[in-house]
Amino acid sequence: MKDLANYIDGRLIPPASSGWLDVFEPATGAIQARVPDSRKDDIERAVTAAWQAFPAWSSTPGLERGQWLLRLADLVERDLEKLAQAESMDNGKPVSLARKVDIPRAVANLRFFAAAASQFASESHAMESGAINYTLRSPLGVVGCISPWNLPLYLFTWKIAPALACGNCVVAKPSELTPMTAYLFSELCMEAGLPPGVLNVVHGLGPNAGTALVEHPQVKAVSFTGGTRTGADIAARAAPKFKKLSLELGGKNPTLVFADCDFEPTVAETLRAAFLNQGEICLCGSRILIERGLYARFRDEFVARVRALRQTDPMDENCEQGALVSEAHLQKVLGYIELARKEGGKILCGGGRAMVGGRCANGWFVEPTVIEGLAAECRTNQEEIFGPVVTLMPFDSEDQAVAYANGTPYGLAASIWSQNTSRCHRVAARLEAGLIWVNCWMLRDLRVPMGGVKQSGNGREGGWEAMRFFTEARNVCIKYA
Ligand code: NAD
Repeated sequence: MKDLANYIDGRLIPPASSGWLDVFEPATGAIQARVPDSRKDDIERAVTAAWQAFPAWSSTPGLERGQWLLRLADLVERDLEKLAQAESMDNGKPVSLARKVDIPRAVANLRFFAAAASQFASESHAMESGAINYTLRSPLGVVGCISPWNLPLYLFTWKIAPALACGNCVVAKPSELTPMTAYLFSELCMEAGLPPGVLNVVHGLGPNAGTALVEHPQVKAVSFTGGTRTGADIAARAAPKFKKLSLELGGKNPTLVFADCDFEPTVAETLRAAFLNQGEICLCGSRILIERGLYARFRDEFVARVRALRQTDPMDENCEQGALVSEAHLQKVLGYIELARKEGGKILCGGGRAMVGGRCANGWFVEPTVIEGLAAECRTNQEEIFGPVVTLMPFDSEDQAVAYANGTPYGLAASIWSQNTSRCHRVAARLEAGLIWVNCWMLRDLRVPMGGVKQSGNGREGGWEAMRFFTEARNVCIKYA
């Protein structure tokens, strides 16, 4: 069993307190490693190292900072297979998915923001009265990046890459449930020779290492992706210190299927939107709203395909549904299925723990589950489950579909399925969501603003949005007339 280490000041070191946390393999339920249970002292060390590195890193030309990110991207790409296996073992996701999506996307994040480092430009505004403004954008200093377990390396790099590209030094805290790829990334930083202190990775629990990072007076901004309740806690701690905050939180995303959709691709893609990564993607469409005329046909075809999903050892090449990330999460998801039953829902397929034999006999698998017959306001249809559980609901008009879609406290993503272009634009304009897809799902362009409204968060990531977040703007106004 391996002991992972923190990466501080260019070195791999154990936690100051000598406390450790077990890391489990969700597919088997077995302990596979230990990760530092870091506390305030470790965060203090990391923040000190980061500030020491800041003067040199922030004055390194953007093009050169970009070259560091490109070097790291090349190393991640070289180790793609090893990282994909580590991600699958840590998270329970199919290894084929980690190979096809998670690790290539980490490479893309690093390359994308490597280019941004040299292309980010300041704005200039000329005034008719004879003056010109220009806006200087400087790095913030030391920033904190806190990432979740569902897309571990993918979201870790999505935060650290723009932060570093802008000239900040970073203290990152990955999820304690899936620390492996962030640890392997630390090793790659050492191999690349990244200057010590530029990136520091401190492992540990949210209320310990996470809170210490958020509250540290010398951490100028916090970029956080995770649950809404955690986001509220972070906001409450950071607000009195006037830190910059980016909060990417939970969702309860609607999928709006109209009777005039292109049936075959709609069923295929809404299935993917519901169950990719076991439904553990913040963008997953977990409430499928279907126009009544199409309801029965859609439901029967959808359920037949859900039944055919292959739930096996995530290490099998053909696995389509892996394990849930932890035993606690397994119990939470099963609890929601029980709640749906109590609320009068009819389970059309799934509905319980899945028993995958062999090596995975004790793994944390849940059968992909489809439920109908629930009211829009019930808890099952209002709260984020974040697992392989979706509900189906018929609607009778465009107005009703929009009302159902908008009728939760969340507003992260939505998708619309229709061949009527006017309707697609009309409905898209009325949806309360940060990301709206039409006849597609999770088609991602890294330049577009990514984030949610209402309880799905605050601020936007992606493209220039991320570069603006990680810099401080100072405007200079010069009168020449
Ligand atoms: P979580 O909030 O439990 O944890 C996320 C990270 O925050 C972890 O690193 C955790 O250790 C840390 N943390 C926990 N408590 C903390 C605290 N009090 N202070 C500081 N840090 C703390 O979330 P999770 O269970 O890891 O992830 C699942 C959630 O993330 C879901 O709600 C999902 O929708 C959301 N998510 C959102 C997006 C998005 O882009 N909006 C993307 C992925 C996941």
